[in-house]
Amino acid sequence: MTELDDEGPERIRRAQAGMTEAGLDALLLSPGPDLRYLTGYQALPLERLTCLVVRADADPVLVVPALERAAAQASPAGATGLEIVGWDETDDPYELVATFVPDAHAVGLDNQMWAEKVLRLRASLPGARQQVAGAVLSPLRMRKSVAEVEALRQAGAAIDRVHARVPELLRSGRTERQVGADIAEAIRAEGHVSVDFVIVGSGPNGASPHHELSDRVIGPGDPVVIDIGGTTLAGYCSDSTRTYAVGEPSAAFRTEYEVLRLAQAAAVAHVRPGVTCASVDAAAREVIVEAGFGELFIHRTGHGIGLQTHEDPYIVEGNELPLEPGMAFSVEPGIYRAGRHGARIEDIVVCTQDGVMALNQSDHDLVLVPAT
Ligand code: ZN
Ligand code: ZN
Repeated sequence: MTELDDEGPERIRRAQAGMTEAGLDALLLSPGPDLRYLTGYQALPLERLTCLVVRADADPVLVVPALERAAAQASPAGATGLEIVGWDETDDPYELVATFVPDAHAVGLDNQMWAEKVLRLRASLPGARQQVAGAVLSPLRMRKSVAEVEALRQAGAAIDRVHARVPELLRSGRTERQVGADIAEAIRAEGHVSVDFVIVGSGPNGASPHHELSDRVIGPGDPVVIDIGGTTLAGYCSDSTRTYAVGEPSAAFRTEYEVLRLAQAAAVAHVRPGVTCASVDAAAREVIVEAGFGELFIHRTGHGIGLQTHEDPYIVEGNELPLEPGMAFSVEPGIYRAGRHGARIEDIVVCTQDGVMALNQSDHDLVLVPAT
C-alpha cells in the first residue's frame, strides 16, 4: 500500500457525500480512472462486467468476473477490505449489480462506460434514471491531495528527463517516426509504465497541434514541436511540450517563439487561488493577440491532468470556475502558421495556497540542436 492507496476510503466517503447532494442512490463504475480513483484497482476493460457499486448509504461492493477475482483481491482494493463479489460465466452480472441497489431511482455511470454496459444496466435497473458520475467525481478528482501532487511531480520529472535526451535524438536526415520511436523508448526508460502519446511535428507538421509522427525527413532550419507524455506506475500522467530547432530557424519563427514564451510565462504567473480558468486562458491569449498572432493560437490554453491526461478543469474561455489549491493543469499556448511551422510550450502546474508551482522544470528557451 502506498500513501495514495490509503486515500481510497476517504475518497469513497467524499463520493458518498457528493451523491447525497446530487440525489444519486448509487455510482456504477466500470474499469477506468473513476474506479481506480476510488479503489486503486486498475481493472482490465473487458466485455465481461466489472462494476464498483458505490451506495450512498451502505458500503461499496465490487462486482467482478470470477476469473478476475484474484486480481481484484491482490490490488489495493483488496487491502482496504472492500467487499468483492464474483460472478460465474453463466450468471447475469447486470442482474447481480441490480440486487445491490434494488430501489435505486437515480444512478451515476462513469462518463466513459461502454454503451453496451449502459444499456444493459438500464434494462436491469428500469426504475433508475441514469446520469454521468462525473458530476460527483470530477469535483473530487480535480482537487489533488498532497500525495497526488507528489505523484504528478514525479511524472513531470520523468518527462523532463526525456526532454533532456531529445537533443541527442533529433538530427537533420532522421524522420519524425525514427525520432519518435527513440523518444517512446526513453519515456519507458525514464519512469513511465506506458507511453500515452508522442508528437514530433517538424517544419509544417508543427502547425498541426495533434500531429503525431510521419515519415517526413527533418531538415536544416526546421522547428520541431515535441509533445510527449506517459503514465507512471502510480497511475498519474505526464504531458510536456518543448519546441526545438534543427540548425537555425527563420527570423519570423524566432519572433513568434519569443511571443509564445512570454505568453506561457504570463499565464503561469497569473495562476493563484480564486482566479478563474478563463482568466488564465486570457492571460496567455492577450500576449499573443497583442503581438498580432491571435488567429494563430487555435486552441484552449490547457487541461486538467491526473489519472487521465485530459480531465477537469479545462483552461478555456467561458470556464468561470475559480482555481483552488490542488488543481493541476497544463499551460500550453501555441502559435501555428499553417504550411510553415508551429511552436508550443507546455508545463503542468499546480495551484498552491498562494500561487503556483510548475511540475516541469526544463528550460523554456528554444532548444537549438546542430543540423548535422
Ligand atoms: Zn501535451
Ligand atoms: Zn497537454
